[in-house]
Amino acid sequence: MKYINTKTLFFTASLLLGVIAVNAQQSPKVFGKTISEAAINSETGTIRCVTTEYEEYLKEKFPQRATNKEFENWIAQKILSNKTKSNASAQNTTQVITIPVVVHVIHNGDFIGNNENIADEQVESQITVLNQDYRRMLGTPGYNTNDVGADVEIEFCLAQTDPDGLPTNGIDRVDLGQASWGESDIENTLKPSTIWDPAQYFNIWVCNFGSDLSGVLGYAQFPSASSLDGLNNNEGSADTDGVIIGYEYFGSINIYPQGNYSYPYDEGRTTTHEIGHALGLLHIWGNSYNNNSCSYSDYCDDTPASNGPNSSCSSHYSCTSYDMIENYMDYTNDACMNIFTQDQKERILAVMENSPRRASLKTSTVCQVTAGREDFELLNGINLYPNPAQEVLNIATTNNELPDSYIIYNSLGQTMAATKVNTAANLSINISAYSSGIYFVSIEKGSESKVLKFIKK
Ligand SMILES: [Zn+2]
Repeated sequence: MKYINTKTLFFTASLLLGVIAVNAQQSPKVFGKTISEAAINSETGTIRCVTTEYEEYLKEKFPQRATNKEFENWIAQKILSNKTKSNASAQNTTQVITIPVVVHVIHNGDFIGNNENIADEQVESQITVLNQDYRRMLGTPGYNTNDVGADVEIEFCLAQTDPDGLPTNGIDRVDLGQASWGESDIENTLKPSTIWDPAQYFNIWVCNFGSDLSGVLGYAQFPSASSLDGLNNNEGSADTDGVIIGYEYFGSINIYPQGNYSYPYDEGRTTTHEIGHALGLLHIWGNSYNNNSCSYSDYCDDTPASNGPNSSCSSHYSCTSYDMIENYMDYTNDACMNIFTQDQKERILAVMENSPRRASLKTSTVCQVTAGREDFELLNGINLYPNPAQEVLNIATTNNELPDSYIIYNSLGQTMAATKVNTAANLSINISAYSSGIYFVSIEKGSESKVLKFIKK
């Protein structure tokens, strides 16, 4: 327990009275590690993050994974070398890094927008929050006026090209036929069966947590140290790399109020926090809440020493000053978070420069449109009117661009017309001679095509 406050007293009293029987069963274990009481929100019963526990599990599974000490030695050298480089170049202009993202929405057959099969707009609202937070964007909840507050100069984009080179909106909906997900199913099935090349895409999974992950908001895979300095680079954990978030904690109610959210974690900061871990950040108390100690560090001098997680938005004096409860790497409510610090930024940039499956994202081109993308967009916006039609059928495009050609065939597959489109006039088709029934129009542009149906009255 971190400290005695009224909430803790309430929690303890409730236990004694047996009021919250579920919590009274106590000491939940995640990834084989006991979750400390300090990490459980006593009001909601939720566990904000299990990245520390997950990292311990990965170290057991992959003994070659760098120890905490090895990783800290490695990153300290990288930070130092980055600083030397930027001093030498005598300029402060860093290039903004854009991280290409795929969001796998793992569902169970629900309609889009229902329950765990969250709407595109909810996914997009999360990307917006990430950009506001990592860019400390003026006029957004991600802005702060703290002297040590950093514009991390990292942005996120939804991928536009999938691993097969085909167009995508960066949202990968997968029906895995399972209502909720515990740690074993996630690690052995969900992630490995859906992951996109983690060297080119930053993978984010959104699902309904259940079983041993009930009440958990999310977790991340910590970056590996590169092999360049003789450390192993742990490629063995490549097929689980990324962050996974409970669907009701993904996206922002401020941006897309119609989405599915759970207060007080409804403004997208769970993902900001977890990506912070994936890019090398520790909790502000140094991931050691079991010890209720000030002697652990997050290796960032500009975040005051803290002895454990804070929940809600109340201030707390931990060690030598008040905790930075507004830091994204605390456990506070979404609404009171707004800062990454300069030292946290340096850790992130060192990871982006040097870590496997992080450095390669900088040169990934998957946020650029594929060659066929414009053709795909054009065909996507095409419609027929009127439908049903009697005399003239029109092919409508969303802009003035023309398709290459079209073929009309009847329900028996017989070709009625094959027309190369030279002018817009070619898009008005006289069908007065056709007999009544169902017809199809196959419209082509580049290597793409689209088939639409119409009825002749
Ligand atoms: Zn965390």
